Amino acid sequence: MDKAALAERYARVKAMLPGGVVLVAVSKTRTVEEVQALYDLGQRDFGENYPQELRDKQPLLPPDIRWHFIGHLQGNKVKYVAPFAFLVHGVDSEKLLDELDKRAASVGRILGVLLQVHIAQEETKHGFLPDELRALCATAPLQHRWPSLQFRGLMGMATNTEDQARVRHEFHALALLRQELAASGAVDPRAFTELSMGMTGDLREALAEGSTMVRIGTAIFGQRG
Ligand SMILES: *Cc1c(COP(=O)(O)O)cnc(C)c1O
Repeated sequence: MDKAALAERYARVKAMLPGGVVLVAVSKTRTVEEVQALYDLGQRDFGENYPQELRDKQPLLPPDIRWHFIGHLQGNKVKYVAPFAFLVHGVDSEKLLDELDKRAASVGRILGVLLQVHIAQEETKHGFLPDELRALCATAPLQHRWPSLQFRGLMGMATNTEDQARVRHEFHALALLRQELAASGAVDPRAFTELSMGMTGDLREALAEGSTMVRIGTAIFGQRG
């Protein structure tokens, strides 16, 4: 590992971020040594996609890391992340909310979650449709149904395209939906403040549309092998 190159890339990414935007360093497939090296440069928020990989890495790394789970989570893997995750970004079904709430309660935690919204044109991306979330929020406060979860905002992935206007349009829609849901009475508007959007390829567009959390892997660690 080239520590000088890592420090340079990290500084370049941080320089792009306005104050208050949380940088989640996406460390999937990276070694414990690489994560530790970035930690030593001051980074504390890390994102992982694979439950077992996160479960195995977490005990080998400093306890004050805030671990973000950003991948697609299956119900039977919730047990690997619920005991210590700081925030679960990709929550895309009521069934998964049920499982997260159950596991959080069983370990005596309040677990922060972001609801993932399908904003891309691609079929492959996960997430609730905007109207599904509107319907969910029209029934009752989410907290009543899932008391061990704290609803912190929305997460979305834009279409993987060179069309920057398209990407901005999708992020804009996500930002508007967050505002709408925050005002709906179904969530605590003081907690429902986060917009997790933006990765290496669409960081600028996400920041321009009001992202509060960016999930960056490649621009910090280099190409994944
Ligand atoms: C891998 C991944 C990222 C980071 O992607 P880069 O292009 O390496 O910055 C962000 N979010 C999610 C959900 C990912 O799976």
